[in-house]
Amino acid sequence: MGIQLGMPGNARGATAPGLVDSHGRQATDMRLSLTDKCNLRCTYCMPAEGLNWLQKEQVLSRTEIVRLVRIGVDLLGVRELRLTGGEPLVRADLLEIIRDIRSNHPDLPISMTTNALGLDRRAVQLKEAGLTRINVSMDSLHPETFAQLTRRPFLDRVLKGIEAAAHAGLGLVKINAVLMRGINDHEAPDLVEWAVARGFELRFIEQMPLDADHGWTKAGMVTAAEMRALVESRFVLTPDPRNRDGAPAERWEVRAKDAPDVVLGTVGIIASVTEPFCADCRRTRVTAEGKVMSCLFSREETDLRDLLRSDADDEAVAQRWRDAMWLKPKAHGMDRTGLGADGFVQPDRSMSAIGG
Ligand code: SAM
Ligand code: SF4
Repeated sequence: MGIQLGMPGNARGATAPGLVDSHGRQATDMRLSLTDKCNLRCTYCMPAEGLNWLQKEQVLSRTEIVRLVRIGVDLLGVRELRLTGGEPLVRADLLEIIRDIRSNHPDLPISMTTNALGLDRRAVQLKEAGLTRINVSMDSLHPETFAQLTRRPFLDRVLKGIEAAAHAGLGLVKINAVLMRGINDHEAPDLVEWAVARGFELRFIEQMPLDADHGWTKAGMVTAAEMRALVESRFVLTPDPRNRDGAPAERWEVRAKDAPDVVLGTVGIIASVTEPFCADCRRTRVTAEGKVMSCLFSREETDLRDLLRSDADDEAVAQRWRDAMWLKPKAHGMDRTGLGADGFVQPDRSMSAIGG
Protein backbone atom coordinates (compact mmCIF):
# COMPACT_ATOMS: atom_id res chain seq x y z
CA MET A 1 0.00 0.00 0.00
CA GLY A 2 1.37 3.45 -0.87
CA ILE A 3 1.96 5.88 1.96
CA GLN A 4 -0.53 8.74 2.12
CA LEU A 5 0.91 11.72 3.89
CA GLY A 6 -1.30 13.67 6.24
CA MET A 7 -1.62 17.37 5.53
CA PRO A 8 1.49 19.30 6.55
CA GLY A 9 0.78 21.24 9.71
CA ASN A 10 -1.83 18.73 10.82
CA ALA A 11 -1.00 18.66 14.53
CA ARG A 12 -2.87 15.38 14.97
CA GLY A 13 -0.26 13.71 12.84
CA ALA A 14 -0.33 11.49 9.84
CA THR A 15 -3.19 9.33 8.73
CA ALA A 16 -0.70 7.10 6.92
CA PRO A 17 -0.23 3.56 8.20
CA GLY A 18 3.48 4.00 8.94
CA LEU A 19 5.60 6.35 11.05
CA VAL A 20 5.64 9.16 8.54
CA ASP A 21 6.70 12.70 9.42
CA SER A 22 5.56 16.02 8.03
CA HIS A 23 8.74 16.25 5.92
CA GLY A 24 7.94 13.05 4.04
CA ARG A 25 10.32 10.62 5.74
CA GLN A 26 9.18 7.25 7.05
CA ALA A 27 10.79 5.67 10.11
CA THR A 28 11.32 1.93 9.70
CA ASP A 29 14.32 1.49 12.02
CA MET A 30 13.35 1.23 15.71
CA ARG A 31 15.94 1.96 18.40
CA LEU A 32 14.70 0.64 21.70
CA SER A 33 16.45 1.33 24.98
CA LEU A 34 16.13 -1.55 27.45
CA THR A 35 17.60 0.27 30.44
CA ASP A 36 19.17 3.59 31.39
CA LYS A 37 21.75 1.84 33.62
CA CYS A 38 25.34 1.21 32.60
CA ASN A 39 28.49 -0.29 34.09
CA LEU A 40 30.88 2.09 32.25
CA ARG A 41 31.13 5.85 32.57
CA CYS A 42 32.30 7.00 29.12
CA THR A 43 33.27 10.63 29.45
CA TYR A 44 31.33 11.67 26.32
CA CYS A 45 28.16 10.04 27.66
CA MET A 46 27.87 9.73 31.46
CA PRO A 47 29.12 11.66 34.48
CA ALA A 48 31.63 9.87 36.73
CA GLU A 49 29.05 9.41 39.48
CA GLY A 50 26.43 7.91 37.13
CA LEU A 51 22.90 9.24 36.83
CA ASN A 52 19.75 8.94 38.94
CA TRP A 53 18.67 5.56 37.58
CA LEU A 54 15.02 4.93 36.85
CA GLN A 55 13.12 2.81 39.35
CA LYS A 56 12.25 -0.70 38.18
CA GLU A 57 8.54 0.12 37.83
CA GLN A 58 9.38 3.13 35.64
CA VAL A 59 11.13 0.95 33.07
CA LEU A 60 9.09 -0.91 30.44
CA SER A 61 8.55 -4.53 31.37
CA ARG A 62 9.36 -7.47 29.12
CA THR A 63 5.65 -7.80 28.20
CA GLU A 64 5.36 -4.08 27.40
CA ILE A 65 8.50 -4.16 25.27
CA VAL A 66 7.39 -7.19 23.30
CA ARG A 67 3.97 -5.62 22.70
CA LEU A 68 5.49 -2.34 21.60
CA VAL A 69 7.74 -4.07 19.08
CA ARG A 70 4.73 -6.03 17.79
CA ILE A 71 2.78 -2.78 17.33
CA GLY A 72 5.79 -1.23 15.58
CA VAL A 73 6.23 -4.15 13.20
CA ASP A 74 2.61 -5.17 12.58
CA LEU A 75 0.93 -1.75 12.49
CA LEU A 76 3.62 0.82 11.80
CA GLY A 77 6.02 -0.61 9.24
CA VAL A 78 9.07 -1.12 11.49
CA ARG A 79 11.50 -3.31 9.52
CA GLU A 80 14.55 -3.38 11.76
CA LEU A 81 15.10 -3.35 15.53
CA ARG A 82 18.18 -2.21 17.46
CA LEU A 83 18.31 -2.88 21.20
CA THR A 84 20.36 -0.39 23.14
CA GLY A 85 20.59 1.51 26.42
CA GLY A 86 22.29 2.39 28.81
CA GLU A 87 23.87 -1.04 28.62
CA PRO A 88 21.40 -3.68 27.38
CA LEU A 89 23.48 -6.55 28.82
CA VAL A 90 22.71 -5.40 32.38
CA ARG A 91 19.04 -6.19 31.81
CA ALA A 92 18.39 -9.53 33.58
CA ASP A 93 15.57 -10.63 31.25
CA LEU A 94 17.42 -9.72 28.03
CA LEU A 95 17.41 -13.28 26.65
CA GLU A 96 13.70 -13.71 27.30
CA ILE A 97 12.94 -10.36 25.63
CA ILE A 98 14.86 -11.34 22.51
CA ARG A 99 13.30 -14.82 22.46
CA ASP A 100 9.77 -13.37 22.68
CA ILE A 101 10.40 -10.79 19.95
CA ARG A 102 11.97 -13.44 17.72
CA SER A 103 9.04 -15.79 18.16
CA ASN A 104 6.62 -13.03 17.07
CA HIS A 105 8.80 -11.88 14.16
CA PRO A 106 10.85 -14.70 12.63
CA ASP A 107 12.37 -12.50 9.91
CA LEU A 108 13.00 -9.23 11.77
CA PRO A 109 16.67 -8.15 11.87
CA ILE A 110 17.40 -7.64 15.59
CA SER A 111 20.74 -6.10 16.49
CA MET A 112 22.14 -4.78 19.75
CA THR A 113 24.58 -2.01 20.63
CA THR A 114 26.63 -2.94 23.69
CA ASN A 115 29.84 -2.23 25.56
CA ALA A 116 30.41 -6.04 25.54
CA LEU A 117 31.03 -6.42 29.30
CA GLY A 118 29.88 -9.97 30.06
CA LEU A 119 29.27 -10.72 26.39
CA ASP A 120 31.83 -13.54 26.49
CA ARG A 121 29.48 -15.53 28.74
CA ARG A 122 26.29 -14.71 26.87
CA ALA A 123 27.10 -14.47 23.17
CA VAL A 124 26.00 -18.02 22.32
CA GLN A 125 22.76 -17.67 24.31
CA LEU A 126 22.02 -14.37 22.61
CA LYS A 127 22.49 -15.93 19.21
CA GLU A 128 20.26 -18.87 20.16
CA ALA A 129 17.61 -16.48 21.51
CA GLY A 130 17.41 -14.88 18.07
CA LEU A 131 19.76 -11.90 18.07
CA THR A 132 20.96 -11.29 14.52
CA ARG A 133 23.98 -9.05 14.93
CA ILE A 134 25.99 -6.97 17.33
CA ASN A 135 27.61 -3.53 17.50
CA VAL A 136 30.29 -3.16 20.16
CA SER A 137 31.58 0.18 21.37
CA MET A 138 35.33 0.22 21.90
CA ASP A 139 37.31 3.41 21.54
CA SER A 140 40.85 2.28 22.22
CA LEU A 141 43.18 -0.71 22.01
CA HIS A 142 45.28 0.57 24.91
CA PRO A 143 44.19 -0.39 28.42
CA GLU A 144 45.14 3.00 29.93
CA THR A 145 43.36 5.02 27.25
CA PHE A 146 40.33 2.75 27.44
CA ALA A 147 40.24 3.29 31.22
CA GLN A 148 40.62 7.05 30.78
CA LEU A 149 37.71 7.17 28.33
CA THR A 150 35.36 4.81 30.14
CA ARG A 151 36.58 5.44 33.70
CA ARG A 152 36.81 1.65 34.12
CA PRO A 153 39.81 -0.71 33.51
CA PHE A 154 37.94 -3.34 31.51
CA LEU A 155 39.47 -3.42 28.01
CA ASP A 156 40.43 -7.11 28.30
CA ARG A 157 36.83 -8.04 29.11
CA VAL A 158 35.54 -6.07 26.13
CA LEU A 159 38.01 -7.79 23.80
CA LYS A 160 36.91 -11.19 25.12
CA GLY A 161 33.29 -10.23 24.51
CA ILE A 162 33.99 -9.21 20.92
CA GLU A 163 35.80 -12.46 20.22
CA ALA A 164 32.94 -14.49 21.70
CA ALA A 165 30.37 -12.59 19.59
CA ALA A 166 32.29 -13.33 16.41
CA HIS A 167 32.58 -17.02 17.33
CA ALA A 168 28.90 -17.21 18.16
CA GLY A 169 28.01 -15.99 14.68
CA LEU A 170 26.73 -12.55 15.72
CA GLY A 171 28.38 -11.00 12.67
CA LEU A 172 28.88 -8.85 10.82
CA VAL A 173 30.43 -7.47 14.05
CA LYS A 174 30.54 -3.69 13.94
CA ILE A 175 32.81 -1.74 16.26
CA ASN A 176 31.84 1.82 17.24
CA ALA A 177 34.60 4.23 18.21
CA VAL A 178 34.17 7.85 19.26
CA LEU A 179 37.41 9.73 18.57
CA MET A 180 38.38 12.32 21.17
CA ARG A 181 41.02 14.92 20.39
CA GLY A 182 44.34 14.31 22.10
CA ILE A 183 43.08 11.13 23.78
CA ASN A 184 42.49 8.40 21.20
CA ASP A 185 42.41 10.18 17.81
CA HIS A 186 45.96 9.04 17.04
CA GLU A 187 44.71 5.44 17.28
CA ALA A 188 42.46 5.78 14.21
CA PRO A 189 44.74 3.82 11.82
CA ASP A 190 45.52 1.16 14.47
CA LEU A 191 41.82 0.63 15.10
CA VAL A 192 41.22 0.23 11.35
CA GLU A 193 44.10 -2.23 11.04
CA TRP A 194 42.84 -4.25 14.01
CA ALA A 195 39.24 -4.33 12.70
CA VAL A 196 39.92 -5.24 9.06
CA ALA A 197 42.32 -8.01 10.12
CA ARG A 198 39.41 -9.63 11.99
CA GLY A 199 36.67 -9.00 9.42
CA PHE A 200 34.89 -6.41 11.59
CA GLU A 201 33.42 -3.17 10.30
CA LEU A 202 34.76 -0.24 12.28
CA ARG A 203 32.65 2.91 12.46
CA PHE A 204 34.05 6.17 13.74
CA ILE A 205 31.41 8.39 15.34
CA GLU A 206 31.69 12.15 15.64
CA GLN A 207 31.23 13.17 19.24
CA MET A 208 27.81 14.75 19.67
CA PRO A 209 26.66 17.19 22.35
CA LEU A 210 24.93 14.45 24.35
CA ASP A 211 27.32 14.16 27.29
CA ALA A 212 25.79 14.53 30.74
CA ASP A 213 28.71 16.80 31.74
CA HIS A 214 27.95 19.28 28.91
CA GLY A 215 31.66 19.42 28.07
CA TRP A 216 31.21 19.14 24.28
CA THR A 217 32.44 21.95 22.06
CA LYS A 218 32.28 22.07 18.30
CA ALA A 219 35.84 23.32 18.15
CA GLY A 220 37.04 20.46 20.35
CA MET A 221 35.42 17.56 18.51
CA VAL A 222 37.23 15.48 15.89
CA THR A 223 35.44 15.98 12.57
CA ALA A 224 34.72 13.38 9.90
CA ALA A 225 37.19 15.11 7.58
CA GLU A 226 39.89 14.80 10.23
CA MET A 227 38.98 11.14 10.79
CA ARG A 228 39.42 10.39 7.10
CA ALA A 229 42.77 12.18 7.08
CA LEU A 230 43.93 10.22 10.14
CA VAL A 231 43.06 6.89 8.48
CA GLU A 232 44.59 8.00 5.18
CA SER A 233 47.91 8.51 6.92
CA ARG A 234 48.24 4.70 6.64
CA PHE A 235 45.55 3.48 4.19
CA VAL A 236 43.88 4.46 0.94
CA LEU A 237 40.16 5.21 1.33
CA THR A 238 37.72 5.17 -1.57
CA PRO A 239 33.93 5.57 -1.34
CA ASP A 240 32.14 2.24 -0.97
CA PRO A 241 30.03 1.83 -4.11
CA ARG A 242 27.19 0.18 -2.17
CA ASN A 243 24.08 2.30 -1.66
CA ARG A 244 24.11 3.99 1.75
CA ASP A 245 20.38 3.25 1.97
CA GLY A 246 19.52 5.53 4.89
CA ALA A 247 22.39 4.22 7.07
CA PRO A 248 24.05 6.80 9.34
CA ALA A 249 27.57 5.67 8.39
CA GLU A 250 29.18 6.72 5.16
CA ARG A 251 31.24 3.69 4.15
CA TRP A 252 34.75 3.70 2.72
CA GLU A 253 36.72 0.84 1.24
CA VAL A 254 40.11 0.38 2.89
CA ARG A 255 43.22 -0.55 0.89
CA ALA A 256 46.89 -0.77 1.82
CA LYS A 257 49.02 1.96 0.21
CA ASP A 258 51.38 -0.62 -1.29
CA ALA A 259 48.60 -2.94 -2.55
CA PRO A 260 45.80 -0.67 -3.78
CA ASP A 261 44.07 -3.45 -5.76
CA VAL A 262 43.00 -5.40 -2.68
CA VAL A 263 40.08 -4.23 -0.55
CA LEU A 264 41.02 -5.07 3.04
CA GLY A 265 37.63 -4.16 4.45
CA THR A 266 35.36 -1.18 4.99
CA VAL A 267 35.25 1.59 7.53
CA GLY A 268 32.23 3.74 8.29
CA ILE A 269 32.18 7.35 9.42
CA ILE A 270 29.13 8.70 11.21
CA ALA A 271 29.33 12.44 10.73
CA SER A 272 26.20 13.48 12.61
CA VAL A 273 27.57 16.95 13.37
CA THR A 274 29.53 18.09 10.33
CA GLU A 275 27.80 16.14 7.54
CA PRO A 276 24.30 15.49 8.92
CA PHE A 277 22.06 12.92 7.23
CA CYS A 278 18.72 14.10 8.68
CA ALA A 279 17.03 14.18 5.25
CA ASP A 280 17.41 10.39 5.00
CA CYS A 281 16.78 9.55 8.67
CA ARG A 282 14.63 6.43 9.19
CA ARG A 283 14.92 6.13 12.96
CA THR A 284 12.30 6.16 15.68
CA ARG A 285 13.55 5.93 19.26
CA VAL A 286 11.84 4.65 22.38
CA THR A 287 13.45 5.27 25.76
CA ALA A 288 13.61 2.70 28.56
CA GLU A 289 10.56 4.28 30.21
CA GLY A 290 8.54 4.18 27.01
CA LYS A 291 8.86 7.68 25.58
CA VAL A 292 9.03 8.14 21.83
CA MET A 293 11.75 10.49 20.68
CA SER A 294 11.52 11.31 17.00
CA CYS A 295 15.17 12.47 16.97
CA LEU A 296 18.19 12.13 19.30
CA PHE A 297 18.02 15.90 19.74
CA SER A 298 14.29 16.21 20.06
CA ARG A 299 13.06 18.25 23.01
CA GLU A 300 9.61 16.66 22.63
CA GLU A 301 8.93 13.30 24.24
CA THR A 302 5.71 11.34 23.86
CA ASP A 303 4.77 8.84 26.52
CA LEU A 304 3.50 5.45 25.39
CA ARG A 305 3.87 3.76 28.78
CA ASP A 306 0.66 5.18 30.27
CA LEU A 307 -1.28 3.85 27.28
CA LEU A 308 0.46 0.47 27.55
CA ARG A 309 -0.57 0.34 31.22
CA SER A 310 -4.18 1.34 30.51
CA ASP A 311 -6.81 -0.65 28.66
CA ALA A 312 -5.95 1.17 25.41
CA ASP A 313 -5.87 -1.10 22.38
CA ASP A 314 -2.93 -1.50 20.00
CA GLU A 315 -4.35 0.99 17.51
CA ALA A 316 -4.50 3.73 20.19
CA VAL A 317 -0.82 3.14 21.03
CA ALA A 318 0.06 3.11 17.33
CA GLN A 319 -1.76 6.39 16.70
CA ARG A 320 0.04 8.18 19.53
CA TRP A 321 3.36 6.88 18.15
CA ARG A 322 2.41 8.11 14.65
CA ASP A 323 1.47 11.53 16.04
CA ALA A 324 4.84 11.78 17.81
CA MET A 325 6.78 10.91 14.68
CA TRP A 326 4.73 13.29 12.53
CA LEU A 327 6.39 16.14 14.46
CA LYS A 328 9.95 14.91 13.80
CA PRO A 329 12.05 18.01 13.17
CA LYS A 330 13.45 18.49 9.70
CA ALA A 331 17.02 18.58 11.04
CA HIS A 332 18.72 18.42 14.44
CA GLY A 333 20.33 21.86 14.14
CA MET A 334 23.75 21.00 15.58
CA ASP A 335 25.22 23.18 12.84
CA ARG A 336 23.68 26.16 14.67
CA THR A 337 25.78 25.59 17.80
CA GLY A 338 27.16 28.75 19.28
CA LEU A 339 24.81 31.04 17.38
CA GLY A 340 23.07 32.54 20.39
CA ALA A 341 19.36 32.58 21.12
CA ASP A 342 18.27 30.83 17.92
CA GLY A 343 21.11 28.38 18.11
CA PHE A 344 21.17 24.73 19.02
CA VAL A 345 20.29 23.87 22.61
CA GLN A 346 21.74 20.67 24.06
CA PRO A 347 18.94 18.31 25.13
CA ASP A 348 18.48 17.55 28.84
CA ARG A 349 18.87 13.82 28.28
CA SER A 350 22.34 12.44 27.75
CA MET A 351 23.01 9.66 25.24
CA SER A 352 22.66 6.84 27.75
CA ALA A 353 19.23 8.10 28.84
CA ILE A 354 17.96 8.25 25.26
CA GLY A 355 19.40 5.09 23.78
CA GLY A 356 22.12 5.53 21.19
N1 SAM B 1 26.19 1.02 26.25
C1 SAM B 1 26.08 0.63 24.89
C2 SAM B 1 27.32 1.02 24.11
O1 SAM B 1 28.10 1.85 24.61
O2 SAM B 1 27.49 0.51 23.02
C3 SAM B 1 24.85 1.14 24.19
C4 SAM B 1 24.43 2.54 24.48
S1 SAM B 1 25.55 3.81 23.95
C5 SAM B 1 24.68 5.24 24.47
C6 SAM B 1 25.36 3.73 22.18
C7 SAM B 1 26.42 4.40 21.36
O3 SAM B 1 26.37 5.78 21.61
C8 SAM B 1 27.83 3.96 21.67
O4 SAM B 1 28.45 3.50 20.49
C9 SAM B 1 28.52 5.20 22.15
O5 SAM B 1 29.86 5.27 21.75
C10 SAM B 1 27.68 6.28 21.50
N2 SAM B 1 27.74 7.57 22.19
C11 SAM B 1 27.50 7.84 23.48
N3 SAM B 1 27.63 9.16 23.73
C12 SAM B 1 27.96 9.74 22.55
C13 SAM B 1 28.24 11.08 22.15
N4 SAM B 1 28.21 12.10 23.01
N5 SAM B 1 28.54 11.31 20.85
C14 SAM B 1 28.60 10.28 19.96
N6 SAM B 1 28.33 9.01 20.28
C15 SAM B 1 28.03 8.73 21.56
FE1 SF4 C 1 27.60 3.24 29.02
FE2 SF4 C 1 27.42 3.07 26.39
FE3 SF4 C 1 27.25 5.47 27.62
FE4 SF4 C 1 29.57 4.20 27.58
S1 SF4 C 1 28.44 4.97 25.80
S2 SF4 C 1 28.62 5.16 29.39
S3 SF4 C 1 28.97 2.10 27.69
S4 SF4 C 1 25.81 3.83 27.79
